[in-house]
Formats: sequence, C-alpha cells, structure tokens
Amino acid sequence: MQFQWYPGHMTKAKRQMQEDIKLVDLVIELVDARIPVSSRNPDIDTLGKGKARLILLNKSDLADERKNEGWTEFFKKKGYYVVRMDARNKGSMKQVSAIIAEACKEKTERDLRRGIKNRPVRAMVVGIPNVGKSTFINTFAGKACAKTGNKPGVTKGKQWIRLNKNVELLDTPGILWPKFEDQSVGLRLALIGSIKDDILNIDELSLELIQILREEYPGVLKERYGMEEEGTPAEMLEKIALNRGCIKKGNEVDYAKAAALVLDEFRTGKLGKISLEKPEVEA
Ligand code: GDP
Repeated sequence: MQFQWYPGHMTKAKRQMQEDIKLVDLVIELVDARIPVSSRNPDIDTLGKGKARLILLNKSDLADERKNEGWTEFFKKKGYYVVRMDARNKGSMKQVSAIIAEACKEKTERDLRRGIKNRPVRAMVVGIPNVGKSTFINTFAGKACAKTGNKPGVTKGKQWIRLNKNVELLDTPGILWPKFEDQSVGLRLALIGSIKDDILNIDELSLELIQILREEYPGVLKERYGMEEEGTPAEMLEKIALNRGCIKKGNEVDYAKAAALVLDEFRTGKLGKISLEKPEVEA
C-alpha cells in the first residue's frame, strides 16, 4: 500500500478510528522494528487513552536483534505490552496470543469486580501504511478462527474475528499517518520503503543510507561490495556501481542503478539486520 496523502482522507480515517477505538478494550499497535519512533504516530496515545496497549515490533526479522531487545525494554518501561515479530510467520503468533491473554486478564478481572461476566475482550490493530497490519491480521486470524459476522447493537456493520472464547479482533485495521513534518522521520520512512520511490530522489536517498551505514554499521558495505569504506558517500556509491557492473553505454557509471540496488539490498535484508533508530537516543 502506498501513501495516499490527502488531508481529507486522513481526517476521515482518524475519525473512523476514533469511533472504532471506542468499541475495543485493547489497542494493538504495529510499528516497524527498524524505526520504532518514526513509524509511530503519537496521536495514538491520546486516541488509545484508557485502553490496554500492545506494541508489536514488526519486521523484526529485518532489524538488529540487540536493538530489538532495547526497544522491547524501552516500550515496556512506558507501560506497553510488547512483542517482537515477523507478521508473515505463523510461529510468531503464539507469543502474541499469550501476551493478548495477559493484557486481557487485567480487563477481565476488572470486569468481574464490576459484576460483568463473560464479555469477550475486543481488540483492534492500528499502524501506519505498509507496517504489516493486513499481513498480521491474516496470519493471526488464519491461525485462529472464523469471523463472527455482524451482531445487533454496537457491532453493527463491523466484522469481528473471534480469536478464542475470550478475545475478538476487529477485522479492519486503523490507519495512522506518520509525522511527516519532521525531516528525519520522512527520510527514515523513505529508507525502509514506506514512501513511494517515484516521488523520491533515489540517488540522494542512497547517499544518506551509505552515510548512516558507514557510521552505525561499519564493515557492512565493505563485506557486501568488497570495497574500502572511505571517501565521500558519492565515491562509495561509485565503487558499489563498479563492483556490481552498473555501467551505462559509453562506459559511464550508472549511479541510478547502483542507488536502487543498494536501497533494495538494504530493504530486503541482504545487507544484514539493520536498525535505523536507537532506544538509547530516545530514552
Ligand atoms: P499494511 O499496509 O500495514 O496492511 O501492510 P501489509 O500487511 O500490506 O505489508 C506490507 C509489506 O510488508 C508486505 O509486502 C508484507 O509482505 C511485508 N511484511 C509484513 N510484515 C512483515 C514482516 O514481519 N517481515 C517482513 N520482512 N516483511 C513483512
């Protein structure tokens, strides 16, 4: 899914989500493990006030495991339940189920104290475009069970997926919009491929990536492209082009091709497990 960047569309999505959140006890928020800050929208803290909160560090298969651990602790300290996962992988869902049960236990106990019995806990998934919401719902629901269909009253028009006898999940995720105003947020979203490439300057983006990798993950470029990590990022891009035979007719270096290549290899994990944000910086 690509960004649809119309204010009207966003306002409508936000209003819809405000309505949906009223129906649930637990908000399941997906963030991208490589950029847990830039892939969040802080509005969700206001929208989800008073609800149990679960953060899923998704695409953790592409992120740096040590940073995943750091981010897990970071969000736990803030009072969220947290699970690292790969939304495509059924194996990840067991842990998610267990944490949902834990998060719901509090709710069920609170209900009981108020004299409410046997009311299933309801949850919804939220997150920015491309973070893996649909993939997660499909994998999770695939493991679980059939949709419950419409019920009279509050659930009118809503489809709930029954996960087990205690938990129901709204089948449509809430779309949050990233905080684009911040330049570094836009850059990081672009680097992980959340923003349509044809509206970006790929050459510049690849130079930013090279700069970051050289500082934060020294040796990665050397290993992949057999080159010394020295000179300007542009000079390094040229070495990558030569290493990969990105040459145009007339023996000219094809920078655009090399730029696209290095970005693709980063996004698909071929450069290794790399995170672009550090919990220490946020803490
Ligand atoms: P949505 O817009 O939030 O619903 O995102 P999608 O579910 O459509 O996922 C966007 C892309 O990310 C798809 O190509 C998915 O296959 C991919 N994806 C989703 N979750 C993961 C994950 O945990 N790891 C990896 N590597 N890819 C994922």
